[in-house]
This record gives sequence, C-alpha cells and structure tokens, in this order.
Amino acid sequence: MSLSREKLKYARRIVIKVGTSTLAHGESGNLNLYRIEHLIREIADLHNAGKEIIFVTSGAIAAGIGKMNLKSKPDTIPENQALAAIGQGVLMHIYEKFFAEYGQTIGQILLTKENAIDEHSRENSKNSLTAILKMGAIPIINENDAVAVDEIKIGDNDNLSAIVAVLMNADILIILTDIDGLYDKNPKVDGDAKLISEVDKINSEIEKIAGGAGTKLGTGGMFTKIQAARLTTRNKISTLIISGKEIGNLRRALNGEEIGTIFSAN
Ligand code: GLU
Repeated sequence: MSLSREKLKYARRIVIKVGTSTLAHGESGNLNLYRIEHLIREIADLHNAGKEIIFVTSGAIAAGIGKMNLKSKPDTIPENQALAAIGQGVLMHIYEKFFAEYGQTIGQILLTKENAIDEHSRENSKNSLTAILKMGAIPIINENDAVAVDEIKIGDNDNLSAIVAVLMNADILIILTDIDGLYDKNPKVDGDAKLISEVDKINSEIEKIAGGAGTKLGTGGMFTKIQAARLTTRNKISTLIISGKEIGNLRRALNGEEIGTIFSAN
C-alpha cells in the first residue's frame, strides 16, 4: 500500500466535498435522498469514530431547481442566485434531519472568495470553523452563491473545498463525485481507459487528461478537481477523488483500500 493511502487510516481532520452529481438524480435533478441518507450515515459514523469532519456541499442550485419544478439552470445570474438561496435552505433542512437522526449537530457556513483571500476575513472563517469543530459539531460549507458575483466568486466547490482544507490544515481532502477517479483517457469514450490510482506530480500530461466538462446541474469537472489537488498538494495535503455513488466508499478509502485516485502530497 502506498504511503499516502496508508496515511489515510490515521487522518483525523477530514474535508469531504460532495458534488451535485452525487447529491441529485441525473435525470430529474431532484435530490437523491437514498444516497444522501447513506452518505450522512457514513459521515456521522466517522464523526463517532473521533474524526473531525468538515463537509463541503454543492447542490444548492440543483435543490432550488427541484423545488421550483424547473428543468435546468436559468440563464440569468439573479435567477440562479435566487435558486441558490431557495435550495440552500432545502439542503440544510435535509442535512439537519439526517444528521439529527444520528445525534449529530451541524453548523452552516457560506463562504465567498473574499473569506478565502483577505487575511482578516480568512482568520475569522478559520476561528469560526475551529469553534464549530471544538463544539463537536460538523461544519457544512457551501459558497455563498446568493450574493457572490464574478469578482468575489470562487465558482466551483472543488476549489472551495481545497481552500477550506488548506485553511483548516486538514489531513486529507476527499472529493466525492460521479466517476471512480481520474482515468488515463475519457472512460465514456474509450473502453480501455484505465483508472490512475496515484498521482505524484500534477504535470501537463495529467492536466491534459482532465480536460474541461461538467454536468448540466453542477459546475466542476475533472479540471477543477485537478486545480483543487494542485492547491492542496502544494500545501502538503493529499486529495482523494472517489465515486460518491458507491455506498461505503468513504469508509473503504479511509481504511486504505485502493479505490479512486489519490493526489499524493508526499
Ligand atoms: N455552490 C454551487 C451549488 O451549491 C455548486 C458549485 C459546484 O457545483 O461546484 O449549487
């Protein structure tokens, strides 16, 4: 087992990012309650095992789209902001319900780029997050999409989760997504595409593989995950990308099982 995977067993402070593609049904865009419930149970159990979990969630806009019975994202920024405002409440309601079932307490933090860059603001975010953890609660983070416009927008939650991992000096960033990890070719096109288990260095070849893309509901593709991994590994934090569709993957990965792709910081 590689050193980075071995280290996962001892990870104590863990940032877990879950993408819209994991939280919502692909066809209808409505929230996938079955998957969310299982995910929350896994997270609650990790918390019970003594881990500090920081949960970065996407899906606000998707939840807003579902709530308003729309088919896809609207074209205008204010409408998307309105949907984020509506959907964030829907999301938190569900998280509150599921986490409460396992006796866990959550606290919502909505960040903008300013909170990540401005030194004073960064410190405040860090203090607040630290206090939530100290209280034994689970911080749930999203970008403050309802007010963030271009200049103050991070834009995708992969980068947001990396910023949070660095800010909080996490032991590992785990990104749950709709694919098993990084492949050497596009697996949707090439049948012989192979999963890359470990990336030691993010070079131009890796960047080329990652391409662009994204889904109709979410923002990030593999490209933004590579950006996230670049930021974390530069700061000595490994990033693991695994499928959020397989129930139990989180636990398996944290046991050192060779699933997904680890961007190693060693
Ligand atoms: N913050 C966005 C949302 O909650 C998601 C951004 C992303 O998909 O990365 O809808």
